[in-house]
Formats: sequence, structure tokens, C-alpha cells
Amino acid sequence: MEKAKKRRFGIIATIVLALAIVLGIAWAMQTAANNSKHQDTLTRVEKRGQIIWGVKADTKLFGLMNTKTATPEGFDIDMAKALTVQISKQTGVPMSASFVPVASASKIQLLKNTNIDGTISTMTITPERAKVVDYTQPYFDAGQSLLVKKDSGINSIQDMNDSKYTVLVVVGTTAAQMTKQFAPKAHVIALQDYASAMQALKAGQGQAMSTDNAILYGFATENPDYHLVGGVFTKAPYGIAFDHDQKPMVDQTNRALDTLKKNGIYNQLIKKWFSNVPGLDWHELEVKS
Ligand code: GLU
Repeated sequence: MEKAKKRRFGIIATIVLALAIVLGIAWAMQTAANNSKHQDTLTRVEKRGQIIWGVKADTKLFGLMNTKTATPEGFDIDMAKALTVQISKQTGVPMSASFVPVASASKIQLLKNTNIDGTISTMTITPERAKVVDYTQPYFDAGQSLLVKKDSGINSIQDMNDSKYTVLVVVGTTAAQMTKQFAPKAHVIALQDYASAMQALKAGQGQAMSTDNAILYGFATENPDYHLVGGVFTKAPYGIAFDHDQKPMVDQTNRALDTLKKNGIYNQLIKKWFSNVPGLDWHELEVKS
């Protein structure tokens, strides 16, 4: 190649390379911006025609896996189904509900990763969590309590405030955080899920299991040797959670929740799940019109 030609080729190649670099940087910046931008949950579920709900699978009454049908069942599941129908009506976009089991400790991360669109999973609204997720209005009022063996002689959280006692809790729950405040001298062991905590209680690895009364009632119905004691010593309002900054989805869900409370569906579900629970006054859970 002649010298002049070679130079021209060199210049063109440099320009092409420079352009490629600039475009590459611009593309990378755009991708990074898109990733850091919150996806709009309402837009996503409308496009998909489905809301993926994170639900409990180890919590009788609220979300428990039916091993025969491989589907979770409970108050939270029925609420999610009813809310999905109602949100479809409001938006005019037909949507189905699908369910993904979540653990107490994993729900927030699953929301953040968009593995789930929302979660209705006995989740207490706390100021700490409200910094990272968006909550709807409360849909159920619970409070922390204790489940003990009937002949244990333990009657309250104060009775547990002794180094000879161990309280069993589940990782990632409010009870895992709060128990030490109410019984600072007691040992606390945090298990991975409720089945393991109940097993540990039965095996005598602790004298009490602690979480929300509503969840403990589920265990008491199945284990007649155990009962709840000491009433409730915290306030635990349950909220439906979405990733943060999801006002359109939260607004739709709040509207749907208002409708279910007004049209009687909410009370029907309270009756369905809680009217046969010994020791629980289910009428107190109904919304009064
Ligand atoms: N309501 C409690 C909480 O939000 C328990 C929830 C759960 O068991 O997953 O921490």
C-alpha cells in the first residue's frame, strides 16, 4: 500500500474505533441507568397478565403448602386471589394470580430482584422495613405472643425472662428482633422456618415458641398439648408489600382492599379461615361496616 493510502486507512480505522468506543460507553451508561431505574410494577403485571405473589408456605391459616395439590392455601392466598380479580376489574386488564413461596428472611430480597411482584405473607409493617419497601394499608392485626406446652407453668413473656429458658423464633421475623427486649435474660434460638421451630419446641430445645398470635393459633389447632399464653405484647399490623417507589401498584391494591372490605369478601375470608380456631374470637377480626 502506498504511504498516503495507508495513512488514510489508519485515520478511518481510528475514527471507527473511537466511534465504537463512544457508542459502547453510551450503551453501557444507558443499560446501567435502566437497571438502576425502578421498573414500574403495575406496568409489568399488566403486560404479563399475571401478578406473581410471594406467599408463606409453612404458616397454617395464612399460607400452607397443600402437599397433595402442590398449591399453598390460607387467608393470604385467598386475599391475593381476590385482590387480583379486583385489580383486574379496576384496570380493565385481565390478570391471573400465581404464587411463589417465600421465607420470612427472603421476602424483601425477592421483591428487590423482581422474582415476585408483591408479597402478602403475614408481613408486619415496621418503620425499618417501610424504608425499603412500599406497604398498603394494614389488612390484618396481629401481635407477638407465646406458644408453650399446657403443663409448662409459663404464663407470660415475663415468666420467660430467666437464663434457664430458651425462646424459639424464626430467622428474619419481628419476633427474632423483639424477644430480647421483652425477655432479655432468656436465650433465643432462631430457626429457619416454623416447622423447624415447632419441632424444636416439641423436642424440648426451648420452652416457648414466639411469633404473631395469628400464626401460633395455626400450630395450637394442630398440637392440642400446646396453647398460647400471655396475650399479645406487640402490635403487628400486616401489610401487603411491593418494592419501594411503586405508588401506582400500591394505590390499585389499596383501592381493591377497600372494595373487599366493603363488599363482604374480606369478612367471608375471615370466617372461612378463623371461625374454627379454638380460643380465637374471630368476630373481632371482621371489619365492621
Ligand atoms: N409478622 C412477622 C414478621 O413480619 C412474621 C412473619 C413471618 O413469619 O414471615 O416478621
